Amino acid sequence: MSNKQIVCECGHKNPEGTQLCLNCGRLINDDYDKKKTTDVMRYDGQAIRSKTKNRTILDRIWNFFASIKTGVTLLVLTVIAASIGTIFPQEYFIPMNVNPEQYYYEHYGSLGLLYYKLGFHNLYSSWWFLILLGLVAFSIITSSIDRGIPLHKSLKNQRTKKHSSFYKRQRLNLHSEDQVNLDELSQSFKEKRYKVKQDGNHILLEKGRLSRYGPYINHTGLIILLFGAMLRFLPGFYLDDMVYVKEGETKPVPGTDRGYYIKNNDFIYEEYDQKSQSNTNPESIDPSLNKIAKNYETKATLYKNSQEEVIGSDANLKEVASDSIKVNHPLKYDHLQFYQSSFDNSLLKDMTFNLKTKDGKALGKPFTVNLESPKKTYKITDDLTVKLRSYAPDYEKIENGVLATKSPNPNNPAFVFEVTDKGKQSEFSFLRIKESQDISKDNKYDVKFANATNQWATVLAVKKDLTLPILFTGFVIFLLGLAVGSYINHRRIWINTDNCEFNIAAHTNKNYYGFSKEINQVLDKHHISHIEDTKQDIHESKEANNG
Ligand SMILES: [Zn+2]
Repeated sequence: MSNKQIVCECGHKNPEGTQLCLNCGRLINDDYDKKKTTDVMRYDGQAIRSKTKNRTILDRIWNFFASIKTGVTLLVLTVIAASIGTIFPQEYFIPMNVNPEQYYYEHYGSLGLLYYKLGFHNLYSSWWFLILLGLVAFSIITSSIDRGIPLHKSLKNQRTKKHSSFYKRQRLNLHSEDQVNLDELSQSFKEKRYKVKQDGNHILLEKGRLSRYGPYINHTGLIILLFGAMLRFLPGFYLDDMVYVKEGETKPVPGTDRGYYIKNNDFIYEEYDQKSQSNTNPESIDPSLNKIAKNYETKATLYKNSQEEVIGSDANLKEVASDSIKVNHPLKYDHLQFYQSSFDNSLLKDMTFNLKTKDGKALGKPFTVNLESPKKTYKITDDLTVKLRSYAPDYEKIENGVLATKSPNPNNPAFVFEVTDKGKQSEFSFLRIKESQDISKDNKYDVKFANATNQWATVLAVKKDLTLPILFTGFVIFLLGLAVGSYINHRRIWINTDNCEFNIAAHTNKNYYGFSKEINQVLDKHHISHIEDTKQDIHESKEANNG
């Protein structure tokens, strides 16, 4: 930068890339961006790093990210990715206990599979979405520094005296031979809330400088928003998960690193007994069609685990909250919230069997097999014992004489029972739902299925969001920047009385019409001829968009 200084006619040394001399306002870089002559005042003619340096790789990276095109492209990509993430449900909305890859394929075909493979099913915690957010943030920061700092510097160090060529280049300017009292004139502008800076017979009037910072306030809000969104990827800040808890079961709360456990003490399910008015014989209606859940709730207890996480150590649970979780009535503790999401009673809890003789005579009392932790031996009478020799909760096939299971869930239980009669040989039978067959020959006994009970389980949504206050702050700052940039106009007027003549030039970042009206009101008062906006027709719409 130092070896390519531009020395102005006034003697001031300006850094490379400067368009308007920082001292006198002369145009010192004619061939710079000729197409965008209206842009000269946009950053007050300051050198912009991304437009002057293009030598090293670092410069090129900087220029790439500082470009508005890059920023907008990245932002659009992020919005597109976020909207693709809403086409199919996110993973935490699909049923629990299913293989997600299979689920997406079965429900949404090969598009669903692609969706899963690309990580859209878990978009808000996928690494590439995080990278995308990071790139957007980086681009915003780069472009803000690139243009914001030079702008801030020049606004802070403004000189009052400007060269006559600077006056002539302004859209609003006037040269007249009116005799003007500078003090009285500045007093009139002061009444319109202008700040006055004087240097000899030159004055600079300025108001609404904050307007120029609008985009940067806006960017700060965006950065905070992105920061909040990225915090969601850090454990401990954000949680949106589900937990499936059977009645009587205590489970670690997902996402808390076993810091909390939740117990389903009791699940209550009540339904309406709706009677159809058109039907006079309600008994003929299939009862399942008339059942609508009136209420379902989980009596839950939340425990805190004070045990330091040591592999193999037991949890040391201390009760911290107890509540009845209903729809719209979550259990809350610390920043954790548990919502009643749904329930499940599709799984079998236990099955009861009778031991009978081949001619159907029941022997002893029925015995019940708990499908989650079955006992090995069931005593039927003094002489007869049933042993569970093999058990598969989700029967697949027989493998090496043992029942193989597809999953640990009792979806399709199968049993091999051994009936032993004291002193005699034992016999074997194989049982599945709706099917039984003897394994040993000439069996005397039958194990018959009597009934089954289902397992009630609650499905709770676990939520935690510490990023909300950050997101809210970011959003408020974002809106504030938008308001500052839109509703405040940055207005500057340069006046001098060189050679006892009157020179005035004025610049604003928006609304030249209102600006010239305001100036002319003051000029009227002092009987000076009106300033005119020469470029009104050509530039009004374009200038309105320039920050
Ligand atoms: Zn100069």
